[in-house]
Amino acid sequence: MPQTPMQRMLESIRLTYRFSFDSSRGQIPPEKVLAAMAAVPREEFVPNDMRPFAYDNNALPIQHGQTISQPFIVALMTELLQPTPESILLEIGTGSGYQAAVLSGLVAKVYSLEIIPEMAEEARHRLSRLGYRNVEVLARDGYSGLPEHAPYDGIIVTAASASVPPPLIRQLKPGGRLILPLGEPYHYQELTLIRKELNGEIQWREILGVAFVPLTRKRT
Ligand code: SAH
Repeated sequence: MPQTPMQRMLESIRLTYRFSFDSSRGQIPPEKVLAAMAAVPREEFVPNDMRPFAYDNNALPIQHGQTISQPFIVALMTELLQPTPESILLEIGTGSGYQAAVLSGLVAKVYSLEIIPEMAEEARHRLSRLGYRNVEVLARDGYSGLPEHAPYDGIIVTAASASVPPPLIRQLKPGGRLILPLGEPYHYQELTLIRKELNGEIQWREILGVAFVPLTRKRT
C-alpha cells in the first residue's frame, strides 16, 4: 500500500521505539501522541532547502545554527510529559516551534521560551499563521523559567545542560514532570525525567542517550 511521507515518519517512530528500548518493557508510542504528530505539517517548520527531508525521522538544521529535534525524540518527550487536555506546560527552547505545535493539540496551554529574539519572532509568526492559538512564545532566557504563570504540570527543555536549572524544579506542580537532556553540550546527554511527587519529593529517571544543542545563557 502506498504510504504518504507522514505515514512513513510515524512508522519509523514506531520502529525506533521498538529498537531503542528493551522489548520486554513493551515500549510503543501512544497513539494519541502519534495522532498529535500526524496533525502537524513538519515541512512548515524547516527551512525551504530541508523540505524534501521534513518527514525523515531525523533531526534537521534550522535557522541560527539550531536544530529541530528528531521526530522520535519529539514523540518520546511528549509521551513522558503525560499531557492531558487540562495541562499547562512550559517549554524551554522554542526553536522552530515544532515541539510546541505537537504539544498544542494535547494540552490546554503551552508557554515556550526562546533565547534568540529573531527565532522567537519567527516561531511566533509561524505558529499563529498555522493556527496554533494556545501557544505563547516569549523571547527570554529560559534558565529562570517563567515564574509569572507557574506552577506547571510539565516542563520540557529542548536544549542540553550539565545540570538542572533550580528555578525549573521550583516551578513544577506537585505531581508535575520535567523532561530534559542532561550532560555536556556537544557531547552525549541523558534524557532525564524528573518527577515532583505530591509530597514534594524529587524522583529522577534516566531514559535514553541523546544529543541536543546547548542551553545557553544571556550575556550580562
Ligand atoms: N524545540 C525546538 C528545537 C529546539 S533547538 C523545535 O521543536 O524546533 C534548541 C533551542 O533552544 C534553540 O532555538 C536555542 O536558541 C534555544 N535555547 C538555548 N538556550 C536557551 C535558553 N537559555 N533559553 C531559551 N531558549 C534557549
